[in-house]
Amino acid sequence: MTNCGVEIVEVSPRDGLQNESEILPTSTKLALINRAIDCGFKRIEVASFVNPRRVPQMADAEAVVEALSMDNGVTYIGLALNERGAERALQTNVHEIGAVVCASDGFAMANQGQTSAQSADVANNIVQMSKAAGKSAQITISTAFGCPFDGPTNQEWVVELAAIIAGSNPREIALADTIGVATPFEVTSLFEKVKAVIGNIPLRAHFHNTRNTGLANAYAAYQAGVRIIDASLGGLGGCPFAPNATGNIPTEDLVYMLSRAGIETGIDMDKMIATGWWLSDIMGRQLPAMLPRAGKFPA
Ligand code: ZN
Repeated sequence: MTNCGVEIVEVSPRDGLQNESEILPTSTKLALINRAIDCGFKRIEVASFVNPRRVPQMADAEAVVEALSMDNGVTYIGLALNERGAERALQTNVHEIGAVVCASDGFAMANQGQTSAQSADVANNIVQMSKAAGKSAQITISTAFGCPFDGPTNQEWVVELAAIIAGSNPREIALADTIGVATPFEVTSLFEKVKAVIGNIPLRAHFHNTRNTGLANAYAAYQAGVRIIDASLGGLGGCPFAPNATGNIPTEDLVYMLSRAGIETGIDMDKMIATGWWLSDIMGRQLPAMLPRAGKFPA
């Protein structure tokens, strides 16, 4: 194990808020993003360019991006689930497009009316469109470990999918545990298998803490060589398929875990804890992250 740093992609403004029932005003989203920047985050998922009738939480995607301060060294990521979404995203100032592949047919059908293999073609198209527009693009393999409709995901197919999308040479490929069912044992094994087929393309990990395995999964991914991890301040968000579930792995707890091992993240822990408290106030409830409640150690 080396002490090489980890890049945390802060996803609370998108994955966090998208899975909250309350719809926050654009100004509050901007305040969250600006606080994240002040904490030291260099890559932030700021919006999803989806149909606002399906995801009203993201209806102000263009307005959010329009109001962001640019040229501050921060990479803003906008999600696009299809070519229409990519066209919208590419008309804004986001630096990077996030495309999504569904590893299971059930999830791909329910979300986009297509098969898993078709979703890979769409994601590859989005990468090409983004590159043609001079922007970077990455691909996330969702439901890589389990699907709410199909059950456990076929890992051989995930590896095959990864090889297919590596063909468009995205900035990185992520494995996402969309519904929070993965355990650290399979995380290490799947990341190692995928790594073997995607050449030099970096891997990113995306976990939900639905069953309290999120942080252990992040550790397992690190052990498999992953150095880019998604997390959400406060552990914001939920899971549309698991009522009352907690959201993404809490950024605060991930930063704590890594920092105690001397692994650099570039995040100011005091500012991050303050932001966690601020976010709890905004959401009107205690959020799942535990570091803001327990405090730093050593103090
Ligand atoms: Zn997610």
